[in-house]
Amino acid sequence: MSVTRTIRELLASERPTWSFEFFPPKTPEGAAQLWTALRELERLQPSFVSVTYGAGGSTREGTMQVTERIATDTTMTPLAHLTAVDHSVAELRHLVSRLAAAGVRNLLALRGDPPGADPQAEWRAHPEGLNYAGELVELIKSMGDFSVGVAAFPERHPRSPDFDTDVTWFVDKCRAGADFAITQMFFHAEDYLRLRDRVAARGCDVPIIAGVMPVTNARQITRIVQLSGQAFPQELADRFAELDGDRPEDKAAVRAYGVEVASDLCRTLLAEGVPGIHFITMNRSTATREVYANLVGAPAIS
Ligand code: FAD
Repeated sequence: MSVTRTIRELLASERPTWSFEFFPPKTPEGAAQLWTALRELERLQPSFVSVTYGAGGSTREGTMQVTERIATDTTMTPLAHLTAVDHSVAELRHLVSRLAAAGVRNLLALRGDPPGADPQAEWRAHPEGLNYAGELVELIKSMGDFSVGVAAFPERHPRSPDFDTDVTWFVDKCRAGADFAITQMFFHAEDYLRLRDRVAARGCDVPIIAGVMPVTNARQITRIVQLSGQAFPQELADRFAELDGDRPEDKAAVRAYGVEVASDLCRTLLAEGVPGIHFITMNRSTATREVYANLVGAPAIS
């Protein structure tokens, strides 16, 4: 077993970090697509790659297996997302131990959303489980030398009544032992910068990595809104709608605009000294490679 680097160490030695997020596949075709994207993005030598944690049984097992395989079969450093949804503390301990046995040292501690189609439905903790991400941070930290991340929300978490309350609970979960945070995707750099300022004003210096998703087709926008519980900027939605169409050149124009928007956002964030950029890849590599190439001057497709 090879023990991978911690994100805490990476953030101390190489900034900005470049990382990519994947989700566990549901079908053999999905698995093939995921591994193609992982292998193509491996060539960019990312600082780390993350795998999201699903809402139900088989995708959860998929998260564990993909994360373990990244740790054992690739040159990349994995970050496993883990949520408290429908898990007792004993189950969470078992999952953390299983990941540790594969050499995984980085975990993103999340409360998670209630299972089902509506992420805004009422939250119910497992009777022997946890209520908030901060408690999961404490649990993981009590189990060994893990590097633990938490979620941050530039436009505040949809359940938080206001920004002030949101930042209070965010700083609290950082103080529970988080080493870094990764944001929800956002499209205006100012939202990220205001969050960073609010957190710094509370005396918290946990590095906040920016979550960026290159939009590659106009239909993704509805899904983004549904999953994040956040509005999609109207001016961008209008432009995507204008470009959208059935012809191959329309699809190419939407993709090119999505890559341009994400590249511009990253340029602003890098100029502002962001500690890292975390790309939400949707298990495809091309758009992410194009944005990355725009930023670091590497060839997009090799
Ligand atoms: P928490 O930090 O617990 O916050 C939940 C709400 O409770 C917030 O409104 C917060 O302000 C409030 N709160 C926090 N602590 C307290 C407290 N002590 N007392 C009172 N109120 C409090 N979901 C998945 O299912 N799988 C994933 O893999 C996944 N990956 C994600 C990755 C990133 C980078 C991000 C940003 C989100 C991800 N999510 C994922 C979504 C996330 O699970 C949801 O947004 C969830 O609703 C909140 O999780 P959290 O960890 O931020 O919760």
